[in-house]
Amino acid sequence: MSDCLFCKIVKKEIPCDLVLESENYLAFKDIDPKAPIHILVIPKKHFEDITELSFQDLDLAAGLMEMVSKVAQSENLEKGFRVVLNTGPDAGQSVQHVHAHVLGGRSLTWPPG
Ligand code: 5GP
Ligand code: ZN
Repeated sequence: MSDCLFCKIVKKEIPCDLVLESENYLAFKDIDPKAPIHILVIPKKHFEDITELSFQDLDLAAGLMEMVSKVAQSENLEKGFRVVLNTGPDAGQSVQHVHAHVLGGRSLTWPPG
């Protein structure tokens, strides 16, 4: 996906504030943080959203959750954190490359807007 923002970050064509990297995943700080800790976790391979990812490669989807957990551990989020996967227009997904938001570092209200 040559015009995908997050694919460009994977290819290092656009810089990011890297948090963790593995063979198949990248975790980097959100450019517009909504909490003291706001990290995006993505598979390096392009999938549009969590539905496409989990239907096409369930192992890679499971690995995404493992990477989320590693990020939470490395950021010392033992008091809690929230994982958000905005999917489609009603959820306000603005980048069409599946990404898990990891939010923490403060008390988070529920329900979300
Ligand atoms: P969505 O709205 O699709 O769930 O989340 C997309 C996220 O990507 C937003 O929270 C937005 O701040 C973040 N974002 C957009 N452009 C960039 C960028 O160039 N670099 C980084 N690190 N985050 C970005
Ligand atoms: Zn992409």
